[in-house]
Amino acid sequence: MAKIPAYAAAEAKAPLAPYTVERREPGEHDVLIDILFCGVCHSDIHQARDEWGNSIFPMVPGHEIIGRVSRVGAHVTKFKPGDMAGVGCMVDSCRDCDPCRRDLEQFCYKGAAFTYNGTEMDRETPTFGGYSTQVVVDEAFTLKVPEGLDPAGAAPLLCAGITTYSPLRQWNCKPGDKVGVVGLGGLGHMAVKLAASMGAEVTMLSTSPSKEEDARRLGAHDFALTTDEASLEKLADRFDLIIDSVSAPHDYNTYLAMLRVGGVMVLLGVPPEAIPVQAFSLIGGNRRLAGSLIGGIKETQEMLDYCAAHNIVSDVEVIPIQTVNEAYERVLKSDVRYRFVIDIASLKK
Ligand code: NAP
Ligand code: ZN
Ligand code: ZN
Repeated sequence: MAKIPAYAAAEAKAPLAPYTVERREPGEHDVLIDILFCGVCHSDIHQARDEWGNSIFPMVPGHEIIGRVSRVGAHVTKFKPGDMAGVGCMVDSCRDCDPCRRDLEQFCYKGAAFTYNGTEMDRETPTFGGYSTQVVVDEAFTLKVPEGLDPAGAAPLLCAGITTYSPLRQWNCKPGDKVGVVGLGGLGHMAVKLAASMGAEVTMLSTSPSKEEDARRLGAHDFALTTDEASLEKLADRFDLIIDSVSAPHDYNTYLAMLRVGGVMVLLGVPPEAIPVQAFSLIGGNRRLAGSLIGGIKETQEMLDYCAAHNIVSDVEVIPIQTVNEAYERVLKSDVRYRFVIDIASLKK
């Protein structure tokens, strides 16, 4: 066991503060990663503040991890010391159940081992995330990060990237499709970049007028202010696909009305409260409401390779870990352009 510097929330709503975690000695199939950067996902905030009611404390958040492999176990074949590696939302699963065999480990019937706020598959050992200097992960759940990708910009691909790539693939996003993206934050800006790279005509649906210019720079063809009724009405029956990345309660029915006949709205955001959906919002126009949770390991690797081939990374604001609590407050004010990424070197000082 090694003692590793980290930042943790001691209890719900407590500010994050310096903490020490124990990491196991790398086993035969493990890699030890020296973490370089870790993204700040809105899910870190929901969980550190126990907004989903399932939090385990002390909690070291962070599931957008990029680092260099510093040591590998005897049976590791994918990695060698010095390789760039990534870890996303999961560090293990049973690998044997139906979803695991279908490369959908996030739905493992035994319960995937999530990177933090969970346990390893022994269901005893707590997992701690990437707001720390090192992590030990089985190579099967460690991603190969193409060297061409900027490491700070690539960190958010491990959650925001795969979470938006997966539904675009599941719903066959193709050139000419009209795609609406609701909420321009960490997930939203990746949805815009990825959908545009797949040839879709993207409309940004945002509550922040100040983000219009950025939305267009990121690849959106159109921008609608969702606080303006008149501009929403013009979008009726328009989209093949809507990706909803909003973290707070909002009216799904408003957006369902913007789908073409047979169109799909995919929920990615997880507002803490339930939101009512009118039956007529779906029945009218055979509209579909779906959800999507991150993506499996195989698809995450595919997404990283796709991003390297298309030169896509996140737009990031790199911060020292000492300012993470302020960063959380700014995320809550929708004031992030468009992902905070912690420079883990700041934790070693
Ligand atoms: P984020 O960076 O905070 O972005 C959320 C965006 O939603 C904001 O930038 C804002 O965009 C919009 N928004 C915020 N409050 C709003 C409100 N009251 N009404 C309307 N729009 C509002 O968060 P994120 O990291 O992208 O995560 C977004 C959500 O996805 C979170 O709930 C997170 O937990 C969830 N998530 C889900 C998965 C999954 O697998 N499904 C994975 C990761 C994260 P505008 O300023 O443009 O309006
Ligand atoms: Zn996340
Ligand atoms: Zn399984």
